[in-house]
Amino acid sequence: MTKKIERLDYPIKTLPNGDTQNLRVFRMRGSAEGPKVYLQASVHGAEVQGNAVIFELMSFFSKHDFKGSITFVPLANPQALHHKSGTFTQGRFNPQTGNNWNRNYTDITECSHFNVEEFIENHKENITTFFKEYIYRSLEQEKVNLSKRGLSEDKGLNIILQELAAPADIMLDLHTGPVATRYLYAAEYAKDKVKDLPFPFTLFIPNEFAGAMDEACFIPWVKLQEEYQRRGEDFQIPIESYTVELGSEEVISMSEAKKDAARILHFFSQRGIIADTDLEDVFLPKTEQIAAKLIDYKTYYAPKGALVEYLAKPGDFIQEGQPLYQLLNFSELNHQDDLEKCLKEVVAEEDCYIINHNPSAVIMEGTGLYQVMRNTFEL
Ligand SMILES: [Zn+2]
Repeated sequence: MTKKIERLDYPIKTLPNGDTQNLRVFRMRGSAEGPKVYLQASVHGAEVQGNAVIFELMSFFSKHDFKGSITFVPLANPQALHHKSGTFTQGRFNPQTGNNWNRNYTDITECSHFNVEEFIENHKENITTFFKEYIYRSLEQEKVNLSKRGLSEDKGLNIILQELAAPADIMLDLHTGPVATRYLYAAEYAKDKVKDLPFPFTLFIPNEFAGAMDEACFIPWVKLQEEYQRRGEDFQIPIESYTVELGSEEVISMSEAKKDAARILHFFSQRGIIADTDLEDVFLPKTEQIAAKLIDYKTYYAPKGALVEYLAKPGDFIQEGQPLYQLLNFSELNHQDDLEKCLKEVVAEEDCYIINHNPSAVIMEGTGLYQVMRNTFEL
């Protein structure tokens, strides 16, 4: 058994002072062939709990044998991590372009050199292996194309992360919400598989590309499956790609990281990466898995600028008419009889689960306050 953690410092950017910014990529290999796993954390710089989970997983795999290989990329976006404003880590948007760091990935299927019809014509066996290589080579080609006039900062990091993830059978992109419970984004193609990853809430997204890492990883396989289906042939997508939201931003908790890691280890045991017997000392929290479609993921926006007290907590089930939050605003206060006008309670429009809320008490009119799931079902 190989216990060693291999480290690769992967240069991603040169800085004005001449330093080079690196990713630290860690690899662990099991003693037998098996799935390739890829985990990254903190593409949004303030969303740091995934790094604690990566540490827990590395600690587990340093003591237990497993099949396959695991690539860990903690702190996957150093620039976002270091983007501080006072005590707060901004980290969500590139400060130079305003772009969301998790919306700049490349849909390789839209690139002119990527052609699933041609791929199928040229490959009749070992499709999974060859298609992973095809994706990787296509990303390399795209990097060359994009670099002709210089690779933009937005694309540069993201395409490197895509290349690192291209060989993976399982890709987990570890994020957090603002103030949030734990939840997954899973695409429709994985609806029968995601139950094996036992987080409390799952949002089902369409098999489409909207710029995020999980989508960038699965969309080539979706297009491949569609082409096989067009030809009347069956093809099961062999890879899984999820975004995992691990609680709230600006927080790490090592005790929660043990539970987060336990959920992921349970998933790995379901995929044959580790033996069930290795999980005897791993406490898996009992979890009812609640899900909803993306169309039933709704945002409550502030009806006016005010100070806000968040009454409903992430993970809570709130019935129609129960209070969500209250606003404090002095604009209508002219006389002592007006005092009651200063506080306004807002209730839920319909039954829902609270998934996350804004971390700030200072809100503008139209600010997103809560995100909730309605029309939920159990997995
Ligand atoms: Zn995020």
